[in-house]
Amino acid sequence: MQLVSTNSNSSQIVSLQEAVLHSLPEDGGLYVPTQLPLFEPSDIRGMKGQPLADVSIQVASRLLDGVLPESELIPIVERAINFPAPLVELTPTLSVLELFHGPSLAFKDFGARFMAELIGYFNRDADDLVTILVATSGDTGGAVAAGFHGVPGVEVVILYPSGRVSELQERQLTTWGDNISACEVEGSFDDCQAMVKTAFQDPDLKRRYNLSSANSINIARLIPQSFYYFGAYAQMKGDNPVFVVPSGNYGNLTAGLLAKRMGLPVKHFVAASNRNDVVPKYLNTGEFHPKQSVTTLSNAMDVGNPSNFARMQHLYGSTWNAMRDDVVGYSYSDSETLSEMQLLYRDFGYICDPHGAIGALGAKEYEGIYNTGEMLIFLETAHPSKFIDVVQDALGIHLDIPIRLQRLQDLPKNAVSIPADYTAFKAHLMSR
Ligand SMILES: *Cc1c(COP(=O)(O)O)cnc(C)c1O
Repeated sequence: MQLVSTNSNSSQIVSLQEAVLHSLPEDGGLYVPTQLPLFEPSDIRGMKGQPLADVSIQVASRLLDGVLPESELIPIVERAINFPAPLVELTPTLSVLELFHGPSLAFKDFGARFMAELIGYFNRDADDLVTILVATSGDTGGAVAAGFHGVPGVEVVILYPSGRVSELQERQLTTWGDNISACEVEGSFDDCQAMVKTAFQDPDLKRRYNLSSANSINIARLIPQSFYYFGAYAQMKGDNPVFVVPSGNYGNLTAGLLAKRMGLPVKHFVAASNRNDVVPKYLNTGEFHPKQSVTTLSNAMDVGNPSNFARMQHLYGSTWNAMRDDVVGYSYSDSETLSEMQLLYRDFGYICDPHGAIGALGAKEYEGIYNTGEMLIFLETAHPSKFIDVVQDALGIHLDIPIRLQRLQDLPKNAVSIPADYTAFKAHLMSR
């Protein structure tokens, strides 16, 4: 696997190691693979019935061919993807792909754990400390902290928007200590993300730190997210699923598009968003207008300027019509989200978090418009107990917090508060 920038006027090709450790090309683009392996239909049919770990190894071996020996790659994949992603059938044509069975209870565990393994491998002989900056709208930081805690030679600095993450999410960011620290930013997720991007271009910081990012701007996050699309296919009856992806920064959806390019037979993708709807608007009008994010119940998707849109455009040669052949976009309000959570509970006894409910809404809207009879699979990106207050209020039920999160409630919060101002963030980093 080799990579180029999405702004590739400079056709400079880099290795995966370079792309993962440096995160961003100098030209302000994002790294994308120069080439993807293409699985034969018979290879893909052969995956039917296989567990996620086996499917992941097959995809990883082809995708990371030449990057590291199989004897190293296989244990990396096995350690990173050591939990299932079950496909739960609600009706014969509607299923949920549950991506929340990892340690932080969100799908971001796939990307974060795989990335931590890769960085550990790439950095195995270096004495240099790698400093990972990560902006989080809620779930990324928790998954990255869990994935990187205790990894030698790596420190992690998390930026999160004050008051815009749930209490449990905040605990998952601020209670680690050791090589993990947190900055509570008086601003939005977009402010946090912008500060991280600025830091990467800052010569003072570059001199002092070996900076890398664990946001989905880092290609290491996207690679393992393509595995579970194959894993879902392996579990479903039939072919040509429609995947409905609740989206914010569009890393998850982009990983699905990569899976399709590798030969996975997918009928359509649905980009389902909350009121932060710049991508559905683009899909419907051809115009892309990033804007300030607004706060919603599905806070991990409160992104006004999604970074992976650049990768989506690159995949389709910046051609609106070509992207629209593969992807349709819909967006939903908080009140629609709450009613959908109630319907899923009433009709199927299924307890869904607000992000997954937006996926379910997308599936139903798609079905209403296209009525293709294909299998619709919506991705449930977080465990409902991560959003326990919203879920309990909406459904009038009591939820237990999973044991692995209960212990966080007694740990003290530890975060440095900073304004949404790059100079303040830089001063904080330089003063450490
Ligand atoms: C991050 C996140 C999303 C959005 O995923 P993107 O890859 O940024 O589009 C959706 N749901 C949950 C629960 C998340 O944590």
